[in-house]
Amino acid sequence: MATRLLYLNDSYLKEFEAKVESVGGNAVILDQTGFHPLTGGVGCDLGWLIKGNIRFRVGRVEIDRATKVVSHVLEAEPTGLNAGDLVNCVIDWDRRYCLMRLHTAAHLIAAIMYRDYNALITGGQVDVDQAKLDFNLPRTDREVFEDAVRKANEEAAKRVELKVYFLSREEALKVPGVVKLAERMPPEERELRLVEIPGIDLQADGGPHVNNTGEIGEIQLLKIENKGKNQRRIYFGMRHANSC
Ligand SMILES: [Zn+2]
Repeated sequence: MATRLLYLNDSYLKEFEAKVESVGGNAVILDQTGFHPLTGGVGCDLGWLIKGNIRFRVGRVEIDRATKVVSHVLEAEPTGLNAGDLVNCVIDWDRRYCLMRLHTAAHLIAAIMYRDYNALITGGQVDVDQAKLDFNLPRTDREVFEDAVRKANEEAAKRVELKVYFLSREEALKVPGVVKLAERMPPEERELRLVEIPGIDLQADGGPHVNNTGEIGEIQLLKIENKGKNQRRIYFGMRHANSC
């Protein structure tokens, strides 16, 4: 049975209770989870599953795309943990918050690159200390990316409140601006989770984001790479970050 994904409704959930559905080797499946798996170009959460006074360290979280079952892969075999147990689950919040800030920053940069340079995003990965984004862009000028990061910082400083909401496929197909996203979604998905940064960006997106762009902090361009014909990759991170 698919795992209930608590993070879809609350990116700020740091602790939750869950029931162990099964244990196989180091992998634990719960009935529900707030742990974001490695998916959608965003790194996975780490943290702990706690039973009584025993803490099991979560070293990796994966989702099976077909079954939507999330596996919490522990660093050591969980002796004493069995199906039916109730566990208290704690997410490594410093790490998660960095991922949320960088992920939201990635939305701003990608939206500005498209709006001002007609550059389409072709890939990307948000990790805890830095993020990378690939763009289809014939120019290699460093100024283009410096401009995009500067504008993203200006947008972040406006402290825009993000909106996260769900629409059925039928509803989504009626809303201008959402139609394209709805058409792209796989037919078995009945509901679309939309993440909107009003005035800037609208995406169908299952990942965790900050509530307000003011939480992002100052984005810093780290590196630009030429990845072949029209393919440019940028790396960015946070300036003066405490833990990112
Ligand atoms: Zn996103």
